[in-house]
Amino acid sequence: MSRKPIIAGNWKMNLLQSEAKSVFEGVKDFVKDYTAKELPTVVIAPVFTSLCAVESVRCNCGCGGNKISIAGQNCHWEKSGAYTGEISVEMLKDAGCEYVIIGHSERRQYFSETDVMINKKAKAILAEGLIPIICCGETLEQREEGVTDSWIAGQIKAALEGISSEDVAKSVIAYEPIWAIGTGKTCDSDEANRVIAMIRNVVKEVAGTEAADSIRILYGGSVKPSTIAEQMSKSDIDGALVGGASLKAESFNEIIANTMSAVTCNV
Ligand code: 13P
Repeated sequence: MSRKPIIAGNWKMNLLQSEAKSVFEGVKDFVKDYTAKELPTVVIAPVFTSLCAVESVRCNCGCGGNKISIAGQNCHWEKSGAYTGEISVEMLKDAGCEYVIIGHSERRQYFSETDVMINKKAKAILAEGLIPIICCGETLEQREEGVTDSWIAGQIKAALEGISSEDVAKSVIAYEPIWAIGTGKTCDSDEANRVIAMIRNVVKEVAGTEAADSIRILYGGSVKPSTIAEQMSKSDIDGALVGGASLKAESFNEIIANTMSAVTCNV
């Protein structure tokens, strides 16, 4: 079963509108020379205030903008109402988003997001026809205690609870070991592949073989142009969720280019 790779940039709380536009233009300029089939699925997740700025330069004129999908970095599961500071999936869709990142460890850690909330968000995203990028991952302490697999299996089961196999198949999971995020320390690619294969087995258990074969599972945590080719060469790693190296068009483009050299994206 071949799955189209995804290279997604999570800009986190970075880049003002003018900076966001300029990085986006830089990526557009690179992808315009390739067909959508040659490219991996390219996704960029700006801050909310830059979504419209980025969407405004994502035109359909052959400049490459239509080969980049936009993602929200978070959402609320309710459609609207008295939830100060929150944003609904419909609002993200209205701003041009096709994907929404949920359950990032930074949101779990600093904003007390729970598995139950992440499950509600995943359902709301799928109900609106968007694709959730569901993050999971262990702390260094958990890894040292030897509970990595059981912890992540629990996160995935909770996130996918009550979601149809068809919807699970369309979804994306990102395995991001917390100790590898922003540290410059990437997880050994064989180990990342082992954990991702374990996640795929959990998906098979809860949603069946077809969903497990279709769902795209990414690796995230200090991904750089120099690490991506080896990561992509592994059987179960379907792409990357990139933080720091997505903030500059040159390094993000290099990650896309190295992905295309390492694997066939024409799926
Ligand atoms: P870094 O690539 O900066 O380690 O961030 C990874 C990440 O958290 C992406 O969501």
